[in-house]
Parts: sequence; C-alpha cells; structure tokens
Amino acid sequence: MRASINTAINRQINKTNSRLNTQLGIGLLLSSTIGLLAYRRKSLSRSGVLGAILSGSSTFGLGGGSWGLSLIYFFVSSSILSHFKAPQKETTAADKFSKGNQRDLGQVFANGGVGTLLSLAYAGARTQTVRELLEAGYVGSLATATADTWATELGVLSTTPPRLITTGEITAPGTSGGITLSGTGAAASGALSLGLVFHLLKRGKGSAHTPWIALISGLVGSLCDSYLGATIQAMYFCPVCQKETERNIHSCGSQTRPLRGISWLNNDGVNFLATLSGAVIAMLLHWLSTLY
Ligand SMILES: [Zn+2]
Repeated sequence: MRASINTAINRQINKTNSRLNTQLGIGLLLSSTIGLLAYRRKSLSRSGVLGAILSGSSTFGLGGGSWGLSLIYFFVSSSILSHFKAPQKETTAADKFSKGNQRDLGQVFANGGVGTLLSLAYAGARTQTVRELLEAGYVGSLATATADTWATELGVLSTTPPRLITTGEITAPGTSGGITLSGTGAAASGALSLGLVFHLLKRGKGSAHTPWIALISGLVGSLCDSYLGATIQAMYFCPVCQKETERNIHSCGSQTRPLRGISWLNNDGVNFLATLSGAVIAMLLHWLSTLY
C-alpha cells in the first residue's frame, strides 16, 4: 500500500517536473529570441539581453504562459512606443535621462525584478489562496511598469508642459516627477491593457477582477514613481548648460553637481520601488475583492 502511494506521488512529482522543464524550455527559447531581436533593433544592450533571458525564462517557466506572455506584451508594447516619434524625443532624452532607449540589465530588473521574485515565490507557494495573491501582485508590478513606460514615452510628446506631482509647478518635459494629462491617460491605458491581456491569457481560469485591479494598481504605482522621482531620486545640475539632469556626467561632457535626492537612488531604483508598490496595492485589492 505504502509503496503504491509512493509510486503515485513520485509519478506526480515527475509529471510536475517535466511540465516545469517544458515551460522553462519554452521560456528560455522565447526570451532568447525576443532578447536577440531587441538587441538587433537596439532596444536592449548586451546586459539587457541577459536580464531579459533571466526574467523571461523564470516568469514563463515558474508562472506559466499567461505570466510569460504578459511580460512579452509589456516589453513589446514599450519597445514599439519608445521607437514611436523617436527623433522628436531625442533632445529630451539626451539631456534628461541617465540612459538612452537601449535598455540595460539595471533597467530590465527595475521593471521586471519584482515580477521575477514573485514568480519564484509562486513556484514555492503551497496553497491556491497564496498563489492567487502572488499572481495579483505580479499583475500589479507589470501594470505599473507598463503604465510608467507608456506615460514616459507618450507624455514626453505632450504639447502642454508637465507639472511637478509634488508642487504643481510647471517644469521642463522629461523631468522626473513631472506629469501631464496625456501621460496619465497613457499610464491608465497601459495598466488596463496589461490587465486585459493577462485576463484573456488566463482563459477564464483567473480572477474576473484582474483588469480593474491592474488599472488601479498600475496607475497608483506609476504616480508613486513620479512622486519618488520628484522627491528622493538623485538629481544633478549641469553648471555649463544650467540644466537639471539624471546624469552624473551631462550629455555635454561636463561633471554635474548633486542637486537633491539620495545619492545612490537612481531612476532604476525608483522604478523598482514603484513596481513593488504596484504589486503591494494589487495584492491588497485582490484581498479586498475576496471579502465580497
Ligand atoms: Zn551640460
């Protein structure tokens, strides 16, 4: 009797392992293909390709198809938008942002790191309740990353100047913490679309609340991003150009001086904290939705 139970358990473990191996294999193949294509299109640097392969295969392998494909949706939609009207954005990008539109390892983990950690926790979760909670967190982190990227890429094209989220003061386009109506609209659209894509990919097996949880957590998460960007992110000032920048060395080649913020907290750190806040908000909303 005991022997036959053990055999049954072993068979189940083998089945689960082979399913995980297949998923990991598909994840590795898909993320390598997309990573290399993105490298050729100059959307990713070499270290960015490594990051994409690591986070892509773990989310796909441990979370499953809906996790992996929604990560791809985030990545592909963001890459398309960053190439959209690229020449118009170039001057702003060179001056303000610490990096160009070729994403490196730090940027990949800033957006996908929280999701990758949640996929590891998901693989180790024992109960369905915990798995659903972690899944909501994953959606919240990706909804925030999507909302923030869409807002940055589309908001920078706004014809009305942005206002600082902290004081409401008018500021230059591309300034961390500056928000516009069109950028906020883009953030809401990005967050909601991520939720809808995830919901469709679950094919009726997920929570019906996913789309609106994604909308709220992604929007609030991206506003957290702007708030942290305006308050604690390290900002510098170029004495030659008399301009504010995220760069240690300005695009003109001059050494900048610290202006405000925590010296080690760059834009990647702020993005990581924002996706974390999106994940926490989504888990709270999911928990509230189970009460009714
Ligand atoms: Zn300068």
